[in-house]
Amino acid sequence: MSTIAHEKYEAVIGLEVHAQLLTESKAFAPVSTEFGGAPNTQVTPLCLGHPGTLPVLNENLVRYTIRMGLATDCKIAEKSIFARKNYFYPDLPKGYQISQYETPICYDGSIHIEMEDYDKTIGLTRIHMEEDAGKSIHDQDPTDTLVDLNRAGVPLIEIVSEPDIRTPQEAYAYLIKIKQIVQYLEICDGNMEEGSLRCDANVSVRLRGQEKFGTRTELKNMNSFRNVERAIQFEIERQIELIESGGEVVQQTLLWDPNKLETRQMRTKEEAHDYRYFPEPDIPPVIVGEEMLDEVRSELPEMPDVRLERFINELKLNEEDARTLTENRQLADYYEGVLQHLDDPKAVANLVMTEVLRVLNEESIDIRQFPIGTERLAELIALKKDDKINSSAMQQIFNHMLKNGDSAMDLAEEMNLLQVSDTGFIEPIIDDVIEQNPDEVKRFQDGKKQLIGFFIGQVMQRSKGKANPQQVREIITKKLN
Ligand code: ADP
Ligand code: MG
Repeated sequence: MSTIAHEKYEAVIGLEVHAQLLTESKAFAPVSTEFGGAPNTQVTPLCLGHPGTLPVLNENLVRYTIRMGLATDCKIAEKSIFARKNYFYPDLPKGYQISQYETPICYDGSIHIEMEDYDKTIGLTRIHMEEDAGKSIHDQDPTDTLVDLNRAGVPLIEIVSEPDIRTPQEAYAYLIKIKQIVQYLEICDGNMEEGSLRCDANVSVRLRGQEKFGTRTELKNMNSFRNVERAIQFEIERQIELIESGGEVVQQTLLWDPNKLETRQMRTKEEAHDYRYFPEPDIPPVIVGEEMLDEVRSELPEMPDVRLERFINELKLNEEDARTLTENRQLADYYEGVLQHLDDPKAVANLVMTEVLRVLNEESIDIRQFPIGTERLAELIALKKDDKINSSAMQQIFNHMLKNGDSAMDLAEEMNLLQVSDTGFIEPIIDDVIEQNPDEVKRFQDGKKQLIGFFIGQVMQRSKGKANPQQVREIITKKLN
């Protein structure tokens, strides 16, 4: 099934994305947020909801959120307040979540997405600060649900989009963009599979040309970017079929089942919570002055769109290469790190895009774990550029560099791969090749010029890769003509 089949209908989609912030301590308590600790070891009386405990706002929560707000062209509220969102759940000992309600810290922003044949700007209604709940574990004990409160109070931002998204593909692109932005800002690791990015999708359909929105459903439990796309696609189809067969969409929350690839009902609006929001009395209003704004602004890195443009316009890379290299900040930093030692954007891009990315993929590692430093890689590329080694030697040396820390030059010498441009070395080899292949020589002279490749190959082989192919080509051409 595809949305294109539905010329009659159009989907309207709004996303609510939660991003877990990389602050060292929790939102309102001085205790570590580090992932993977033994259950319930990172808790304070506040996380446990003990009476008499008081929250203290982590300043980095505010700063990180402002970073996101500035990076997405939001307005930043001079004064915003926290609110209590009341509900009962075992992983929420306080009985309420501290969030923001009427006055979010960031509002009226936008995120730009690029689709294959058009670009589009998705409006952001708001970005607000809140705390995470603990974790209920249902599958470790045969009869009981266990609760781990290490996550209780870990800071989150919620990014709420305007209902500007029209297709599952746009939703996907929007999420990937958010991931890229939070990673560039270094405020969230952006990993959806591990839950540091979470997305709820609101979906409705309407007849094309109709202004009024249809009734929406809210989809939850999609733990990968692709699942968000699939779930939305499924839900659009379901709603259209329902309407076409005379039914009506009911406002409800649906859970995506990643195994069955379908949504199922979780709760309807009638059972929906009334959170009884009210201003959090224990935390003073958050005041953001010009000074703090300037400080945060000065901490902002070059953002991906700007970097992409610069790679295309100043480094003269083609768009596809520039996109790949700027996709994540660390890779772009690495690439530019190599350029610091060797000012040849194209040559460096070529090696990074092929060999380096191949290794990252094969080993499933991050560029930060890549064993060859920027200076070392620059040295290798420079050897090739200066015609000291040829491409096959570059590849061999690269493979060795992955395993040991030797410099490219040392390896080239050790492996006997330095190219010899000395004609005294090459000429006799060329003469041999010509002498031993009279048929090919004749055909070449009769006009089959492609045979030049054959001769060069022979010479390269006999020189054990040490001849300079360009020079070999020149000499052979001269001798055969
Ligand atoms: P709630 O308070 O129930 O979460 P909001 O008004 O805050 O509702 O909206 C949540 C999300 O739903 C926003 O991203 C918004 O753009 C989106 N949304 C609102 N109405 C619709 C609709 N009719 N169809 C699709 N998405 C919608
Ligand atoms: Mg909501």
